[in-house]
Amino acid sequence: MIDRSSTFTGQSEVQGDPHGEVFDLVGIGFGPANLALAIAIEEHNESSPGDEVRACFFERRTEFAWHPGMLLEGSTMQIAFPKDLVTFRNPTSSYSFFSYLHEHGRLVDFVNHQTFFPTRLEFQDYLQWAARRVGTEVRYDADIVAVEPLHNARGSADLFTVRAADGSVVHARTVVMGVGLRARVPSWATESSRCFHNHDFLFHLEEMPSPVHQRFVVVGAGQSAAEVVQYLHANYPQAEVHNVFGRFGYSPADDSPYANRIFDPEVVDELHSAPLEERERLLALHKGTNYAVVAPELIEALYAAEYRERVRGPRRLFMRRASEVLATTETSTGIEVEIRNSLDDSSDTLECDAVVLATGFEPTSLGSMLGDLAWNTPVPPVARDYRLELPAEIAADVYLLGGTEKTHGLTASLLSNAAVRAGEVLSSVLERRLRGQSVERAEIGELDRIPSQHTYATSEAR
Ligand SMILES: Cc1cc2nc3c(=O)[nH]c(=O)nc-3n(C[C@H](O)[C@H](O)[C@H](O)COP(=O)(O)OP(=O)(O)OC[C@H]3O[C@@H](n4cnc5c(N)ncnc54)[C@H](O)[C@@H]3O)c2cc1C
Repeated sequence: MIDRSSTFTGQSEVQGDPHGEVFDLVGIGFGPANLALAIAIEEHNESSPGDEVRACFFERRTEFAWHPGMLLEGSTMQIAFPKDLVTFRNPTSSYSFFSYLHEHGRLVDFVNHQTFFPTRLEFQDYLQWAARRVGTEVRYDADIVAVEPLHNARGSADLFTVRAADGSVVHARTVVMGVGLRARVPSWATESSRCFHNHDFLFHLEEMPSPVHQRFVVVGAGQSAAEVVQYLHANYPQAEVHNVFGRFGYSPADDSPYANRIFDPEVVDELHSAPLEERERLLALHKGTNYAVVAPELIEALYAAEYRERVRGPRRLFMRRASEVLATTETSTGIEVEIRNSLDDSSDTLECDAVVLATGFEPTSLGSMLGDLAWNTPVPPVARDYRLELPAEIAADVYLLGGTEKTHGLTASLLSNAAVRAGEVLSSVLERRLRGQSVERAEIGELDRIPSQHTYATSEAR
């Protein structure tokens, strides 16, 4: 938890007199994005005595977890394992997936397995291992609610106050937002123990009343939807599973090598500097690398299961194509789901035990946390180094790890570029600190020029 003894009064904030802890960098959220940054900071601090970055990360969970509600048995990663927390930034790091395997005595067995795509269960174990090892400070059970500039008497601010839900605060020169995405819930849905987003799927299943109708509806046609369909079909052997989606059928994920280059670290340069319309055109064209698509093996497995049922019955798996849910009504024993087929405009109502909303994610709105620092434009004003453009009187920095798809491309919310991006953000933080120190010294006559760029290890390819 944040040090409660450091709670501010409004008066001291206006005077810009930070009581309590002051960090060079505070990270908000401790998922893979900020974990990769914490490792980069640790490696920098070890190799650069005297130039350390004093950092602290705050996470609202009580321990590290990576989408625990979707750790379905057998589900695999959608990226190749070398796109781990470090390898593309520092292939010699002791935090690589290979190091993890070696430490757990599975390196040879994994190689014999001949796959680039570990299970999500194993990758989450890798991430947890890295989170336990990292020496950079992490405080769990800390829900951050506000980031506010700490104005000094001259009206400028070179620190932020970072405030937690319990009222406690710390201060930092740099704040890095790594808060992930939030679940997208359709307007017709009222969330309950029978109607829930797939993000916390396994936890909701535990809480769901015992099935009476032996019927589920899953809404959506992306990877998560297909995984949930497969899971329910396998784990509730008496139940029907109806997958409702607007498409005609699942579309396969495009992970062919040329298209996959859209996730390359150096492509961020090209996309960020391209005109907005061109970036939008390319991202729309290549949406199929990530959005509303399903791994081809899973499509085939589901089709085979449905076909087996057509041969020998009974039918339990139903693809409700070109369809949408119009409304749901909870009853004493379940939930009624009204489904409309848009091809013939027919509709029917199913009595179900639960509706799973595999309806995707959207960027977390930072408005309530950042207040006046937040933007109100459709595209966030974010520089190539992931730094948010702020008013001139604020000399402190906010970086966005995530939510920058419109400026930096498809990797913004994924793991693909987490390692390199962490290195780039750290380079920028170090460079700006050096420039700040130089300007200060120049102001008191010690220096007459600002030093050249401070670069920290980034991608080998860069
Ligand atoms: C089921 C599933 C599978 C996926 N598989 C892949 C994959 O194979 N490959 C891939 O590249 N991507 C995948 N993704 C995309 C996913 O976004 C990334 O894997 C990854 O989680 C992004 O990391 P992150 O740190 O940005 O966000 P998150 O992992 O979401 O972490 C954000 C953290 O911030 C914390 N937080 C949020 N708000 C606050 C606050 N106010 N105060 C304190 N803490 C806060 C949250 O509790 C959370 O722990 C998958 C997503 C899902 C849902």
